[in-house]
Amino acid sequence: MPVDRRREPWSALLDAGRADGRLVREERRGAAAGSFSPLPAELHPKLLEGLRRIGVERLYAHQEQALRAAWDGPTIVTTGTASGKSMCFNLPTLDVLCRDRRARALYLYPTKALAQDQARALASFGLSEAVRPSIYDGDTSREERAQIRRGANVVLTNPDMLHVGILPNHAAWADFFANLAVVVVDEAHVYRGVFGSHVANVLRRLRRIAAAYGTEPRLMLASATIANPVELAERLTGLEGFALIDDDGSPRPERKVAIWNPPLTDEASGARRSALGEAAELLAQLVREGARAICFMKSRKGVEVMSRLVTEDLAAKDPELAALVAPYRAGYTAQQRRELEQRLAGGELRAIVTTDALELGIDIGRLDAAIVVTFPGTVASLRQMWGRAGRRGRGLAVYLAGEDALDQFFCRRHPEEFLDRPVESAILDHESPLIYRRHLLCAAHEGPLSRADAEFLGPRWEAAAEQLESAGELRRRAATVGAETFVLRRPGGYPAADVSLRSASPESFAIVDVSSGELLGSTESARAHSTVHEGAVYMHLGRSYEVRELDLGRRRAMVSPFSGDWYTQPKRTTDTEIVRLLDRRETLGVTLSFGEVSVTETVLAYQRRRLADHSQLGLLALDLPPTSFQTQALWFELDATALTERVSIERLLGSLHATEHAQIAVLPLIAMCDRWDIGGLSTNYHPQTGVPTIFIYDGHPGGVGITRTAFARFEELCEDARRLIAGCPCASGCPSCVQSPKCGNLNEPLSKAGALLVLEGLLSRAAEPETVPAL
Ligand SMILES: [Zn+2]
Ligand SMILES: [Zn+2]
Repeated sequence: MPVDRRREPWSALLDAGRADGRLVREERRGAAAGSFSPLPAELHPKLLEGLRRIGVERLYAHQEQALRAAWDGPTIVTTGTASGKSMCFNLPTLDVLCRDRRARALYLYPTKALAQDQARALASFGLSEAVRPSIYDGDTSREERAQIRRGANVVLTNPDMLHVGILPNHAAWADFFANLAVVVVDEAHVYRGVFGSHVANVLRRLRRIAAAYGTEPRLMLASATIANPVELAERLTGLEGFALIDDDGSPRPERKVAIWNPPLTDEASGARRSALGEAAELLAQLVREGARAICFMKSRKGVEVMSRLVTEDLAAKDPELAALVAPYRAGYTAQQRRELEQRLAGGELRAIVTTDALELGIDIGRLDAAIVVTFPGTVASLRQMWGRAGRRGRGLAVYLAGEDALDQFFCRRHPEEFLDRPVESAILDHESPLIYRRHLLCAAHEGPLSRADAEFLGPRWEAAAEQLESAGELRRRAATVGAETFVLRRPGGYPAADVSLRSASPESFAIVDVSSGELLGSTESARAHSTVHEGAVYMHLGRSYEVRELDLGRRRAMVSPFSGDWYTQPKRTTDTEIVRLLDRRETLGVTLSFGEVSVTETVLAYQRRRLADHSQLGLLALDLPPTSFQTQALWFELDATALTERVSIERLLGSLHATEHAQIAVLPLIAMCDRWDIGGLSTNYHPQTGVPTIFIYDGHPGGVGITRTAFARFEELCEDARRLIAGCPCASGCPSCVQSPKCGNLNEPLSKAGALLVLEGLLSRAAEPETVPAL
């Protein structure tokens, strides 16, 4: 028996959690020794020399596989955090650049910080003669730009800059495009939903322009682990035949994974101690025990509060330890980030608290422990954060649950499933109508649209171009019969400037900070009334603002920094009108449909609620006109007679409403999205269906495929929703089951018991044989 087994810094902590039940699940993930390959002799001698110079004598097996795959065709790499993914695309790129003096490469990153880190990594090979990386983004000065176009052979940029700055000005980049050999798309899992649907169009435009200059660049993608990497790669790029490299050959330390639930404080309401307070205690204890830790929060506000709580906790007992914890904020310069990383590496810092936002881009390698506070939205991103845990042969990865429905769904009821759950699929739709048409305009500006463009823009481009022609945006330019092209009606236009990659519709409201005059961002018009109405507390990059004024005429919201202790929730009425049926099937005893709907919303009032306990601080009236937008939806028609056998007529609406909430809460389990991306409506009588009907719609104008996935996997949606409700110990509904933080009816009426009966009724039909249609 190993008597002197080294005591881990978290032993006491886990013992305590085991004793009082807060530690709901723990699992030991074994270490992996790693599998290695020698450096391939075929690599260019200069590159081999560079690798040896920086101490790389061998590769992980997956890096070598990725290199060979990239020599063959398009590739996507999805190995874990800190597994040396960059090397997978850097090696083939550098090899090409060493061989061909004229060759160019384009690297796309979703954030500036990540692009900076990668530029630094490329420079570290010491191949300065052959490899000249430069960052080209919004901060690049005019003089530098011309120089980069001429001199850089690796251009690191973001999709937004490619879309608005590079593609429309391709003539200035003629030499670059004519020699573009490699395109790298890192962090590809970020490109999903609205953003992904735009980026998919930008990458198609990129391939189209490259082809116009006679090149066909090799595409290399890297992504966090997701359920559908090859599908994502194909949808993003429009190319087929991607090789998947997912067999991680990097060595991994042994890691303990723990799911931690704050203790119940009130049985009936289901209330628990706040995740923040609980996490602060855990982190303070780890620091005391000498562990190096990182703690991930959802918002900047959370980061501030958390750092304060931990510092206070430490200062009370060991004042000298309080200085060992620091917040890590987005927006740090590269220099500041390096300093922080060095302090962490040198032990002057033991813990950092940060947001889970991607702007992180911090190059800290691995630490002893990683604590993720509340569910980050996807299992994929949770695993990525957990991947930071593990140093000197061991690590602790903690997920600390919040009170939200998904948190408790996993934590209290199905922790084992959580650990084994397959990660989600990344969904996007490059032909989402509003997005697609606007990129066609951008493409037309970059070069007349012609038959040959079906290869890049898809077979339906011509139908969409004809619509744009009738709308007066494009005109035909006659060439020979049957070969006419489409060009912009207004030749002086610059359509890319009107398309934001982060928003589904062109109409948007600007959000301006009155205290600084700074433009913070914009929000889709369809959402403006409910998100930036007067008095709304608005979050931007994790920071809180209060809306002073919503100027409908000038389409802007004036906001100022906010430090109050409440949040706001709009009260609104919603109507849906079915515009077009696209698909229909009978399942679970209901008629399930998918199609286009028009959603009309009127924001009537808003409620202030206290952050700490969600208590109501008052309802304030608003006077706003209705807004409407078209989007995709699924809806299902229930049998009124069968329903009222299960649920009393008074409880009917509450039962449907609670069913809708539960289904929306679990939808992110099958399609990577946020519940804020989805809307719903339940009614005991819909004028078009004539029966009780529940609608679940894509919250972005045009839709990006989320409800299409839900339509296809409706049975899972019902089963997950049933389990969500059935497993919740509360008496009559709580935020962990049927209450929704975004309900336009402020969670009225809701019947938890009724929803359970409705869902059980549906699922009882799953076992029945298919009904034979009457002839
Ligand atoms: Zn509940
Ligand atoms: Zn609701």
